[in-house]
Amino acid sequence: MSEQTIALVTGANKGIGYEIAAGLGALGWSVGVGARDEQRRADAVAKLRAAGIDAFGVPLDVTDDASVTAAAALIEERAGRLDVLVNNAGTAGAWPDPPSTLTPAALRAVVETNVIGVVRVINTMLPLLLRSGHPRIVNQSSHVGSLARQTDPGAGFGAASGAYSPSKTFLNAVTVQYAKEFGDTLKINNVCPGYVATDLNAFQGTSTPAEGARAAIRLATQADDGPTGGLFDDAGPVPW
Ligand code: NAP
Repeated sequence: MSEQTIALVTGANKGIGYEIAAGLGALGWSVGVGARDEQRRADAVAKLRAAGIDAFGVPLDVTDDASVTAAAALIEERAGRLDVLVNNAGTAGAWPDPPSTLTPAALRAVVETNVIGVVRVINTMLPLLLRSGHPRIVNQSSHVGSLARQTDPGAGFGAASGAYSPSKTFLNAVTVQYAKEFGDTLKINNVCPGYVATDLNAFQGTSTPAEGARAAIRLATQADDGPTGGLFDDAGPVPW
């Protein structure tokens, strides 16, 4: 088995995910670029490889059982294990999404990607992660998933969100339960990238994707005595 650290980043073809892949690759890691679109995946892999990164494409739609199973088979064949999984793929759905006008279908679509997709990928990759000496999972959450921030009138979160924000709150709760199940066997944490200019918000964010990638990279590279079951941004712990 190779000594090189093996990572998989979902939704790595653009935005924050691409920069997480670039940041982990710059450490000399082998990085799987999880992406559902063949052309966008190939373009991202080519760009990363041109920058000297050991990147490989992983066809991956987090909402599709067969796709995620095939992704695990690809990584097993290539590396035999997975050291770090970054669940970055996510959707904002039909933002803005006030709860009073939300349809069940719209809510289901957001939860399918942002929550169920993460559980699907984690559980399918678990056998490979448990073969690692230092397994880490980092899930891309958001400050808007923090109930403490949402209920703080001073936090500046104006718009009410019925699907996107609750999907990240749900994801936070899921992570707490994985941490409870796995203890020190596997470290799992959620991160908040900040308000980042990407397709997700029509490039309205105020920080760059590279800045948004920092929190995920920090938790993905943490030492063995680092935290598990927490929520962090670039500055440190974020209240639930
Ligand atoms: P983005 O540029 O729109 O990137 C989203 C990524 O997720 C794309 O690669 C997209 O692939 C992928 N994706 C969506 N659905 C997928 C699916 N079913 N299967 C596989 N991949 C899928 O947005 P981003 O801002 O970088 O978002 C990355 C993560 O950060 C998300 O989880 C988001 O909720 C979170 N986040 C972002 C902000 C922000 O301010 N931007 C703030 C807080 C949290 P395609 O190119 O194929 O669509």
